[in-house]
Formats: sequence, C-alpha cells, structure tokens
Amino acid sequence: MQCYKVDPEKPIKLKKLDANDLGNWEGKKKDARKTFAGLQKELAELQEVLYAEQKQKVLIILQAMDTGGKDGTTRSLLEKVNPQGVKLANFKVPTPIELAHDYLWRVHPKVPAKGEIVFFNRSHYEDVLVVRVHELVSKEVWKKRYEQINAFEKMLAEEGTTILKFYLHIDLEEQKQRFIERLTDPKKQWKFNPGDLEERKLWDSYQAAYQDVLNKTSTPWAPWYAIPANRNWYRNLCVGSVIVDTLKSLKMKYPEPISDPETYLQALENEGKEKQE
Ligand code: AMP
Ligand code: MG
Repeated sequence: MQCYKVDPEKPIKLKKLDANDLGNWEGKKKDARKTFAGLQKELAELQEVLYAEQKQKVLIILQAMDTGGKDGTTRSLLEKVNPQGVKLANFKVPTPIELAHDYLWRVHPKVPAKGEIVFFNRSHYEDVLVVRVHELVSKEVWKKRYEQINAFEKMLAEEGTTILKFYLHIDLEEQKQRFIERLTDPKKQWKFNPGDLEERKLWDSYQAAYQDVLNKTSTPWAPWYAIPANRNWYRNLCVGSVIVDTLKSLKMKYPEPISDPETYLQALENEGKEKQE
C-alpha cells in the first residue's frame, strides 16, 4: 500500500499530487471496500487493547480544505470502534479568550492521555494556514510557528504520544461538486457556510500554505501523509491502513491476567451455599 508519507528531505509539490490517484487500487473499488472493512475491525480490536493497557497515547490530526472529508474519514474509521477511550476535538474560529492566549493554549488540553486515541478535526495547523492566508497575524509571527509546532510535537512524542497527521488532498473541481451536493441536499445544506465560497477563491494561497506545512513540519516524530482524497473509499483505505499499521507496531498487550482467578470463581460458587447453610 502506497502511503504517501511526506519526506522532508524530498519536498513535495502539491500541484503534482494527483487528487484522483488510486495507487494500485485502480478498478478495485470492491476489493478496497472489503479490505477497509477488515481495517475497521482491526482498528476496533487494537483500540480495545490500547484502552485496556493504558500505556499508549495516540494523536491523529486531520487537515483539509472545506469538503475535503475530515468528518467522513473519522466517521468511517470509527464505525466499529467502542467510543470508550476515543475522543474527537474540533478546532473552530478561536474564542476571544483563546485569542488572548498563545495559539497552542487551546490545543494542549485536548491531546491524548494514556489509553486514549484523539482525533483532531483541524488543529494548531490552522494557525499557519487560515491565519497566514488571511494575514491574521504578521508574517514575522506566523513564520516562527513551524519550528514552535515541531518543538511542541517533539515534546509530546518524547512524553510517549504517537502522532500521525493526514492532509486530505482534493482538487478545485471536486470541491465544486461537493459544494453543489451540499447546496442541493437539504440534509447537507447546514454544512454550507456563505463564507466557504470566499475561501474557495483563495485556493492557491491555501495550497501554498499547505505545501509549506507539509514540507516544514513532517518530522520523524510526527509525520505528515498527503492523501489523494477525491475518492472517499481510497482516502479511507489509505488513512485506515497507516493508522492500523502504526498501532500494530506499538506491540500493545492486554494487562497480565490476575494470578488466581480460581480463588474468586470458588468464592462466587460458595456464595449460594453460604446462604443455604
Ligand atoms: P468548520 O471546520 O468547517 O466547521 O469551520 C471551522 C472554521 O474555523 C474554519 O473556517 C477554520 O478556518 C476556522 N478556524 C479554525 N482554527 C482557526 C484559527 N486558529 N484561526 C482562525 N480561524 C480558525
Ligand atoms: Mg466548513
């Protein structure tokens, strides 16, 4: 499985990343769905062990342009997972109190504790994306943030957090289709924001900002994966397989069983007898 990990030694050009790419899965949508169903099951099992073991912390960051599929990815991945031990954090326009602090202030309390998987729907990366594109702070300020973010994520990793970051890459035409779908389906209209079309006009600036994020902040301790995301099934398959492979590599184990279950079983059996006597 081609996994689209961003190698900082070989900077990527987003214009060259085909959002329609299907890797080796061209013409194999049915097989891909079966494989994905297997991954969903594996993820559910791995999450059970992670929760039972209470040792690992896993942070999964999802970033994308509007309609890029952040919600859909999380929904599909977590379909079979026990909600116990899984958390979602959404990062919207900062509140006045959040804005009055440094940009990592609202992020740190949301990172995973031992035994947790946390999905970030948007993240501190907005502070070098929307903030850069709209010049909400000066260049002087945002350009220092790449290094600050790398340092923050390094600290989390050194303290035992496994970090995976996914940029879901759709193209301008696909976004248009998805907006049309949102506007024509009464059940999806709520997702549409009048401001979304203004953001769409800034597509190239966002792509430039994303490209810098990918090239400047893909690190050994917190790698980025730039996933072709025009086809939902392929996007899910790629993200799912990276997460499952990473969780497997953590070699998690259920805690040691208690040494003398017999004693307790005996006690339970004796309960009735004691009452009868
Ligand atoms: P949505 O995820 O579509 O509900 O929209 C959330 C909005 O919040 C997006 O337009 C983001 O760009 C915006 N947002 C998230 N974080 C920040 C931030 N740090 N500064 C400004 N806007 C942000
Ligand atoms: Mg939106």
